[in-house]
Amino acid sequence: MSGAAIFHATITCPRCGHREVEVMAIDACQYFYDCKGCGVVLKPNPGDCCVFCSYADVKCPPMQGDGCSQS
Ligand SMILES: [Zn+2]
Repeated sequence: MSGAAIFHATITCPRCGHREVEVMAIDACQYFYDCKGCGVVLKPNPGDCCVFCSYADVKCPPMQGDGCSQS
C-alpha cells in the first residue's frame, strides 16, 4: 500500500449527467459501466483504458501509477 493512488472516483454519465461514486480496483481496468441513472452502458473513449479514465474525475489506479496493463 503506497497510499498514493485514489481508489474512489466520481463517474459522470455523459448521457444523463448522473454522478455516482465508485470504487476502483487497484490492478484492473473496468471497461464497462452501467449508469445508475439512465442505465446506459458506458465504454471508454478511444485511447482510454477504462471508463474511469474517460468519465470519472480521477484516472484509474494503474494509470495513476505505472500504467495500465490491460493491453
Ligand atoms: Zn446515465
